[in-house]
Amino acid sequence: MAVEIEQFMCRSDNFGALVHDSRSGETALIDAPEEAPILAAVERTGWRPTIIFTTHHHVDHVEANLVLKQRFGLKIIGPAAEAAKIPGIDETVEEGHVIRFAGEPVTVIATPGHTAGHVSYHFAQSGVVFTGDTLFSLGCGRLFECPPQTMFHSLQKLAALPVETRVYCGHEYTQSNARFALTVDPTNDALKERAAEIDRLRAEDKPTLPTTIGRELATNPFLRWHDAAVRNTLQMPRAGDSEVFAEIRKRKDNF
Ligand code: ZN
Ligand code: FE
Repeated sequence: MAVEIEQFMCRSDNFGALVHDSRSGETALIDAPEEAPILAAVERTGWRPTIIFTTHHHVDHVEANLVLKQRFGLKIIGPAAEAAKIPGIDETVEEGHVIRFAGEPVTVIATPGHTAGHVSYHFAQSGVVFTGDTLFSLGCGRLFECPPQTMFHSLQKLAALPVETRVYCGHEYTQSNARFALTVDPTNDALKERAAEIDRLRAEDKPTLPTTIGRELATNPFLRWHDAAVRNTLQMPRAGDSEVFAEIRKRKDNF
């Protein structure tokens, strides 16, 4: 049986997510961006969280850790490499660790790049991955603590997940990502269609997430380093994959 997910906005453009297993009644929270919207989501769903899965240490992902811990007595899990910067952390995880959540194995995928210790959480049975600020819809996180090569390697791992995997991300950045994506992949029809759909969704104030790995492979320029048309636009027909990725990341930084 698959987990149920309640996704909601926090701060200006962060996503919060509650992950619930109806059989056991267990609930997890993915990151803790802001207290009030999280409490509202708990109230709305009746799902009381017992655990937080932390993707990385940035304040917009951990700010509500301590208040929620006090209120719900929950356990906070996060990347070992960032433990010192994650308030209230109880248990650390690393690449390949498997956490049992409501009987489902949740695999920790180390996805450094945005931060040096960033992790993603893969619920393989449910077909869901939470990628924090590593993979965004049509984008990827800024490289604050790592060289491009590191993020490239992390994105390769996420790209290898089953194509039907639903992807939940840390931010609603899709519309601005789409504008940039069209500059490096202007002839991609799937991308053009998707950009139009995103504009429609945002005009109605609806979220553009979750996406899927398959959809990102077809439209996200940060996963299309191998694509001949993208390489042509960048005038890098014979460059290595990670060089193409680095160039796309650099252009996005200056976009
Ligand atoms: Zn971040
Ligand atoms: Fe963030």
